[in-house]
Amino acid sequence: MATLDGKRAIITGASSGIGAATARALEEAGARVYTGSRRDGNLDVTDPESTKRFVEAALAELGGLDILFNNAGLSRGRDPVWESLEEDEREVIETNVLGLMRMTRLCLPHLIESGHGHIVNMGSVAGVWSYPSGSSYVASKFAVHGYTRALRDDLQGKPVRVSNIAAGIVETEFSKVRFKGDEEKANAVYENVAMGGPLNAQDIAECVLFALTRRPNVNIDEILVMALAQVSGGNILRES
Ligand code: NAP
Repeated sequence: MATLDGKRAIITGASSGIGAATARALEEAGARVYTGSRRDGNLDVTDPESTKRFVEAALAELGGLDILFNNAGLSRGRDPVWESLEEDEREVIETNVLGLMRMTRLCLPHLIESGHGHIVNMGSVAGVWSYPSGSSYVASKFAVHGYTRALRDDLQGKPVRVSNIAAGIVETEFSKVRFKGDEEKANAVYENVAMGGPLNAQDIAECVLFALTRRPNVNIDEILVMALAQVSGGNILRES
């Protein structure tokens, strides 16, 4: 079985959901994992100083870097464009796009130096298809998908692999954050999903692990993974 023995990894946003499950999976595969989030009190990717301090602390602890999983992200609100709030749009773009770019820029020299670096970005079906009343989140994930491809262009010839995990509906705290703590609205997102329900965080961790454990010359550019009941960004079959 392929392992990540001795590999040094940073995961952003591992205080919950997909990040937490992936941190466990990578540790089980033998990697040393350094995690950060606002709840952990050591990382806010929207804050350049916080991000710089976090990367410095991670490198001091790990002694180098082989893997960056850019997972931290969120959505705010579920409104048509004309009702979308400026502050929600700003938070989504600053977190999902600028935060991910900042983390990448700070980590990249160390990933190159390792001689076998790997960046995994957390994309979404929202970066493949738009869906109604999700404009800022959709815009942010299209940006993540575009940035991932731009990274591949700029890194050609350098020993860094780049992957994008485009996930459909995954049951995490994502909807609770999107609906600003409204549990009823959040739970409704995951209820009645037909044919076995939504994905869970472990399903995505397994995709990340798959991308990370291919032979060194194999670059998994994108994994698009959805629940059986979901056939596109906004088309999810529900049990009546
Ligand atoms: P989640 O349970 O809400 O986890 C989000 C993580 O991101 C938390 O650990 C959160 O930590 C962290 N985070 C948010 N803002 C941050 C910031 N400014 N600085 C540092 N960390 C921050 O949701 P999830 O579903 O696991 O989401 C993880 C990623 O998967 C996101 O990029 C999301 O867009 C993507 N995704 C989710 C789904 C889905 O259906 N759930 C589908 C496709 C893609 P703190 O709150 O402690 O900072």
